[in-house]
Amino acid sequence: MPEMRAPLLALLVLFLLGSLVGAVEKPFNFNETPGKLPKEVVPTEYVVRIVPNLENFTFTGSETVKLNVRRPVHQLILNALELKIEAASLDGKKLPVSAIKTDNEGELLTLTLPSELMAGDHALTLHFTGKVNQQGQGLFYMRYQEQGSGARKVMLGTQFEATDARRLFPCWDEPAFRARFQLTVVVPENWLAVSNMPIESEQKTTGGKEVRFAPTPPMSSYLNVFVAGELDLIESQVGPTRIRVVATKGKAEQGRYALEASAQILKYYNDYFGVPYPLPKLDQIAIPGGFGGAMENWGGITYYESTLLFDPKNSSAETRQDIYEVIAHEMAHMWFGDLVTMAWWDNLWLNEGFASWMGSKCTEHFNPQWEVWLARKLPRDPTRRTGIAKEAAMEGDARSTTHPIQQRVATEAEANSAFDDITYKKGQSFLRMLESFLGEDTFRDGIQQYIAAHKYSNTTTADLWNALSEASHKSVDDIAAGWTEQPGFPVVSVKRESDGKIRLSQERFTVNFKNAPPLLWQIPLTYSVVGETPAALLMTDKTGVLENIPADRALKLNVKGAGNYRVEYDDPSWRLLLKALPKLGVEDRVNLMSDAWALIQAGRAPVSLYFGIVERLPASTDLAEREEMIEVCLSINRLLTGTAACEEFQRYARSLLRPTFGTLGWEQKPGEPSNNGRLRASLIGALGYLNDPEIISGCRERFDKYLANPASLPPDLRGPVLAVVGRYADEKTWDKLHELGLETTSSENKQNDYNALACATDPELVKKTLAIALTDELPTSRAVFLVSRVARDSGHSDIAWQFAKANMKALLAKVDAAGANRYAPSLFNFFSDSSRADELKDYARKKLPPATSADVAKAVDEIQFRAEFKKRLTSQLHAWIDGKGQQ
Ligand SMILES: [Zn+2]
Repeated sequence: MPEMRAPLLALLVLFLLGSLVGAVEKPFNFNETPGKLPKEVVPTEYVVRIVPNLENFTFTGSETVKLNVRRPVHQLILNALELKIEAASLDGKKLPVSAIKTDNEGELLTLTLPSELMAGDHALTLHFTGKVNQQGQGLFYMRYQEQGSGARKVMLGTQFEATDARRLFPCWDEPAFRARFQLTVVVPENWLAVSNMPIESEQKTTGGKEVRFAPTPPMSSYLNVFVAGELDLIESQVGPTRIRVVATKGKAEQGRYALEASAQILKYYNDYFGVPYPLPKLDQIAIPGGFGGAMENWGGITYYESTLLFDPKNSSAETRQDIYEVIAHEMAHMWFGDLVTMAWWDNLWLNEGFASWMGSKCTEHFNPQWEVWLARKLPRDPTRRTGIAKEAAMEGDARSTTHPIQQRVATEAEANSAFDDITYKKGQSFLRMLESFLGEDTFRDGIQQYIAAHKYSNTTTADLWNALSEASHKSVDDIAAGWTEQPGFPVVSVKRESDGKIRLSQERFTVNFKNAPPLLWQIPLTYSVVGETPAALLMTDKTGVLENIPADRALKLNVKGAGNYRVEYDDPSWRLLLKALPKLGVEDRVNLMSDAWALIQAGRAPVSLYFGIVERLPASTDLAEREEMIEVCLSINRLLTGTAACEEFQRYARSLLRPTFGTLGWEQKPGEPSNNGRLRASLIGALGYLNDPEIISGCRERFDKYLANPASLPPDLRGPVLAVVGRYADEKTWDKLHELGLETTSSENKQNDYNALACATDPELVKKTLAIALTDELPTSRAVFLVSRVARDSGHSDIAWQFAKANMKALLAKVDAAGANRYAPSLFNFFSDSSRADELKDYARKKLPPATSADVAKAVDEIQFRAEFKKRLTSQLHAWIDGKGQQ
């Protein structure tokens, strides 16, 4: 039977491949764009007026929408959510109350018309009321302590992506329905109000002032913004564009670094895209809560304040780099996302993958010393994968729970779930590989053609490939299809033959995924005989051959690790590479290390492969290479926590990391590169975690001095020193850390203080930390991640989960739309006992909505992988460490 089935299976596979790759997407066409709303009626212009009530957190609103009716209709169907429609009229004629139907489940508003509405221009007027939310969905409020005075204040902000503009005003809330928006708001007199466009007029009114903004160009509804409060700003000018940083009173000057960075980035993008930034102003707005990240509202980008404000007294070098990179990402959206918008959420990667790639490219251009492509990203959600962006995406993409970059999106919940590592990081990684294959200039020419052809409109991925194909005279869609329309990625096996040829073969790379459907990719492969000029080859078949590679020279594939694939070398190739390690650049060394670690996770190599490389690395204080080691050591340590094997491993890991710390020392040296400061911080945090007694006592000493004189501890070291102190804290120390967190108005210091609390391992203190998540000490988005952080860092995932289970409703009320589906399942990510997988499935069945199913499946897969990996790793590690002891 098996023999007979094989050819059949192969045929079937070919057929499946053909149908997958053959399902080529079409260029943007409004009528064929997916979505819930009928396409007969198109809004062209909204005039919206909102009056918030700050006493009871509600608002009243009214709007007039100019409609272009393309074919006669009997109904108007648009989006609205948690709004009460008080009155509706069409072309000045009031509709009866019975004609208005809201459907909260479907997030729709249906207006049944008394008679058929003829094609042509019409005007719809609506009066409505709604609520101001606590979490970052729609219009929301934030409470915060004012800088200096410490007074408790409140302010307003909005967060609409993906589908929450409909919570503020009824609208055609799908990205292809572009329209002009003109917003008017009523706010207290001493407030500053900010929106996408400059203020057109301002006048006194009862209870405050009425602020009217200029109308926007045609854009998607999710890009609207409204922020207001007791705000300050600083500003400058780049050509015709007024650029500003807006922050709560007393903090605007901390936006100086962001303002300078914005000016630099704006000039770069004006040049790169070939179309200058089209709005008269560009604001970067720091908000002290509500949501955790940043949002590319056109002309008014919002940031959680610690990702925008740099306070030289309290901010670390890492924060400075993050700020630059986040601004570069968000500003890239002003073109890719705002001027040209994906037609539907199935192409979200066009926004996010592109902005991630462009942001990193721009950051690297101005700051090559930061090693941007190798920099470890610390996600604000501690349950997400850490590490180099590309690696984090590949780890998830190797699993059974992955999905293609382009994926079907039918519901609002699915749109919100699309904001994941595959969309952002695999998208970014694929674009980097494609750019290096097509060449930097050709790629940019294609992008310029694309922007020029589609500005103020929408696109699909096909439109981008068409522009790049035209510019490069290569069929980019054929190469790209395998990477964006099918899940996963390949591993290329390298086998040295006695005839001097190198045989290559590709197959799908998987982890914890038996019987994965086989797939084929067109791989833009790069390689070099170490020390010589790299060469490239498009590998289109399952196998390939490299000729004339000298038998005694090391061969490195995936030059600088820029490609989104893994490489598996045979033993002779590894032996040559290990010998050549000191001659390789850091990107190539890091690439070999991460591939080795992935092969071990996949069960394709023993753990000795990884540590064999690590032990042969030349002494160095290179940030990326050492952080790669730290990352692996900490993930093993977390896996082994509570087992007998942990202590032996910790001793071994300390022996690997200690020498580098010995070179760097505790104190900053005059003129040292900023990367050394970051590495020192990482090593202190890691060695403390790995129970290094000298580091622990050194941290305690510095903490005591810090209490007496905060300036004694450099900002770079505050996070790790406090985390180590928190980890081994008694109740008195815990209280002291808590006090610091309560008092400070610096969001960075506050985050360090609370992160430290989350590290405490004493179960009683763990409970005290968790209870804080229910208070309003922290902004909502940070409060919920306190629980995730405890699950990861305290060694007591179980206590964290029991707490979350008992308080799930209160916690979910603080989670923003993008995080809602994954919050509960992600708390299971640190378990490694397979019975937990059943517990989660059972909980999900009883308590979680169906929209969480993909995230539940991911967490279940993670638990099962960890359970199996832990077993395998424990015995292999012992053999490796023990074997060394006997040498
Ligand atoms: Zn983005």
